[in-house]
Amino acid sequence: MGAIKDILRTMDYGPSPEGSDHVRSWLEEHKSGFGLFIDGAFTKPHDLFDVFNPATGEKIARATQGSPADIDAAVAAARKAQAKWAPLSGFERSKHLYALARHVQKRERFLSVLETIDNGKPIRESRDIDIPLVARHFYHHAGWASLIDSEFPGTRPVGVCGQIIPWNFPLLMLAWKIAPALAAGNTVVLKPAEYTPLTALAFAAICIEAGLPAGVVNIVTGDGLTGAALVAHSGVDKVAFTGSTEVGRAIRKATAGTGKKLSLELGGKSPFVVFEDADLDSAVEGAVDAIWFNQGEVCCAGSRLLVAESVADALYAKLRARMANLRIGDPLDKSTDVGAIVAPVQLERIQRLMREGEKEGLEFFRADDSLPARGCFYPPTLVTGVEAASILAREEIFGPVLVAMTFRTPDEAVALANNTRYGLAASVWTENVNRALEVAARIKAGVVWINSTNMFDAASGFGGYRESGFGREGGREGLHEYRIADEPKAKPSSAKPARLNAAPGLAPASATAGAGLDRTAKLYIGGKQARPDSGYSYAVLDPAGREVGLAGLGNRKDIRNAVEAAAKAASWGAATAHNRAQVLYYAAENLSARAAEFARRLRATTGASVRAAEAEVEASIRRTFVYAGYADKFDGAVHATRSRFITLAMNEPWGVMGVVCPDGAPLLAFVSLVMPAIAMGNCVVVVPSAGHPLSVTDFYSVLDTSDVPAGVVNIVTGEANALAKTLAEHDGVDALWYLGDAEGAKQVEALSAGNLKATWVKASAVDWRQAEGREFLRRATQVKNIWTPYGE
Ligand code: ADP
Repeated sequence: MGAIKDILRTMDYGPSPEGSDHVRSWLEEHKSGFGLFIDGAFTKPHDLFDVFNPATGEKIARATQGSPADIDAAVAAARKAQAKWAPLSGFERSKHLYALARHVQKRERFLSVLETIDNGKPIRESRDIDIPLVARHFYHHAGWASLIDSEFPGTRPVGVCGQIIPWNFPLLMLAWKIAPALAAGNTVVLKPAEYTPLTALAFAAICIEAGLPAGVVNIVTGDGLTGAALVAHSGVDKVAFTGSTEVGRAIRKATAGTGKKLSLELGGKSPFVVFEDADLDSAVEGAVDAIWFNQGEVCCAGSRLLVAESVADALYAKLRARMANLRIGDPLDKSTDVGAIVAPVQLERIQRLMREGEKEGLEFFRADDSLPARGCFYPPTLVTGVEAASILAREEIFGPVLVAMTFRTPDEAVALANNTRYGLAASVWTENVNRALEVAARIKAGVVWINSTNMFDAASGFGGYRESGFGREGGREGLHEYRIADEPKAKPSSAKPARLNAAPGLAPASATAGAGLDRTAKLYIGGKQARPDSGYSYAVLDPAGREVGLAGLGNRKDIRNAVEAAAKAASWGAATAHNRAQVLYYAAENLSARAAEFARRLRATTGASVRAAEAEVEASIRRTFVYAGYADKFDGAVHATRSRFITLAMNEPWGVMGVVCPDGAPLLAFVSLVMPAIAMGNCVVVVPSAGHPLSVTDFYSVLDTSDVPAGVVNIVTGEANALAKTLAEHDGVDALWYLGDAEGAKQVEALSAGNLKATWVKASAVDWRQAEGREFLRRATQVKNIWTPYGE
């Protein structure tokens, strides 16, 4: 160690390794291998795989590769336990979660050291960030356990949850999954990542120690095969996954049509935007936290630095100087800043991507290329001169590599920020509060940090837009993932079932082009009636099989045109909620003025009685009023997270939504689905009931006379499942509601895996008289959490 004045200059205090004897002796006790934690006890180890310390390459443990039979046993234990766990009072469940929090806290040092040895992250981070947040998560959800019944009325637990987590924050991701599931009355089978199973196994021991009832938490270790078996298990009611977009997509397909609830928290390529008026020194510290925290192995890492051209050189110079002070090395050393990469395979992935970048001739900066002699390390790297099309700007590197691009105007900054298929997080640096909030609103990401980065708290939701997944973890938003709404039993609707295949007239009835007097209801696209691309129409039959009219036979091309028109109308989402409410009221008024005509049409096409038809029209008017009323009342929230932060949870529209209506109650179902969607600012492409489309095609003129801007509602009639297929495959559709048959529901979920659009499918009958309320609004929005600091 040098003289004190040298130390003050270099800040080099010499090595200060954290003691690890207690962890090493625990590992020694389990030298023969870890079993699985099923039904409150550890099983006999079998099919062991090796677990390594990535900082040294040393083998530290062996864990069991869970088999399908193990998954069976774990799911059965969880099912049995759920029957007793769900009926416990909220207070009882709360005490259990509180006990878990206390025990985690008691073992903080042990868990921090174990996490660091298993994952390679610096002890400073596991000790000061990961494990305290784990305890915080259990405390927060201990609170929710006792509040869930009063705060989530009309809902119940989902059941048995299969949860799969990655290796970058092993115990923290476990807490994010287990705490809300248990608080909401579910039981779980959790599979940790194969590189980092150890803290989950230590947590299993904590469950025993804390007296958690057997089977409430089950931990099954293993690789992707074990994960796939868990996803596929018919006894699992919900799958919650955090990991790569690629595996998320596979899980979306595997669960399609099974009725399993699904939440996905996937990859990211998050922008870190620095404007010319930013406090550059703070931004540099922010960048360190954004990309060199946890070696950049963070799904929401600020990995794309977008900087105003006028300050780019100044910022790069400061960053380079700061990089020279980053210490890379032994993660157990308390003064290490950058630890080890989790495993050789991940290191190779980083190296491969960097070679690709080198081929593109990009400029790399590393303060110091020297790395520890052994273990898996990669130096902090800054890449400048990057084009938006570069592989390094597009692909998630999941390593300590920051790629930088410049912009000239705020519009260009937003365009660059959104130029990615992901949408997990963003960081915005500017001293101008107006600009900060405007840019936060325009960036498509589930979390936006203003003048800060990588802020997490149990009270705030976290999760992505677009291909970063759907569903939120944390806070009130996260709990929705672990509850399902009680649904009133559906009574037969006023409409007689007229499924497509039972309507013989659906086959092309006539070529509309050139026909003399054209009685065919057309499509409605971009505020205009449009002939179907096919040129064909189909006969709409009444229940007695008599033709009551013709409707356009829409096809793939019509859907594409409709999606394009909807995307062009996006400014609807930026209109004030009051404006949207006025438009909805106007539509209700115009429908009301023509109530008798609509009731006649319903009677003629569905065979409903006079009373039933009038009641359906009346209910449609009332429902439109309800959503007009809701337009400016479905508020967001201000979460109580960290001190000196306002965390705003904003309900934002998806953008373009597809809505496929069921056959029953053709007018009321249409209104019940479309009105909440547009009240929240979405533009929709609607496929009305194929059997009874005419009440909806009559609605065109209601839209025309109600000031609904062109493109906000687009309607394509035709064969529902064929049109649903195009909507599901279309990357311009951000969310899709499908109400139809089981086969169609499965198709929609499977095909939505392309851009990972959020889907809401129902294959069972719905009682449309009661289908109303906040659940529809929640499904019509996604939550963006904006963290805004205050104080100097
Ligand atoms: P990462 O890029 O973070 O390694 P992965 O998506 O490969 O992300 O892994 C995240 C988790 O998903 C791990 O627990 C892994 O074992 C698991 N996993 C990998 N493949 C599958 C699969 N096909 N089905 C279910 N889980 C899987």
